[in-house]
Amino acid sequence: MLKSKENGGEKMAKSIIQTNKECLISTATCNLQQHHIFNGVAYRKKSEKYGLKVWLLDGWHQNTKYSVHKDKVFRLALKKLGQIFFEEHYGHDKFIKEFNKDYLAIPFNPINCPVDRLEQSLGARFLLLKYPKIGEIK
Ligand SMILES: [Zn+2]
Repeated sequence: MLKSKENGGEKMAKSIIQTNKECLISTATCNLQQHHIFNGVAYRKKSEKYGLKVWLLDGWHQNTKYSVHKDKVFRLALKKLGQIFFEEHYGHDKFIKEFNKDYLAIPFNPINCPVDRLEQSLGARFLLLKYPKIGEIK
């Protein structure tokens, strides 16, 4: 019988976005926390099921102004990224069926951000550089 090597047999899906355990934004390898891309009880479960989760340095994850839990532009950018990866594996229709929303259809522009709010959408700007596809509207 096959046994899972991780977590004493508890089944954990692998991230479909990252292969290495490093911060998605900074590539740091310590003080990491795992973030489930889609929130709310049901969607968090589905994020786990489909591997829609990423490693983030603690500050990028929560408690700072620019963290994904506080900054809605960053949060949207990550959801767009999650949708892109999901659709590469399972297609568009299944994404809509599972998550009930088309994040790729929501316009966002993290570049034109007012100077007094530069901390906001900082994570989104990093993601846009790394994954230009999140800036395209379907
Ligand atoms: Zn989180």
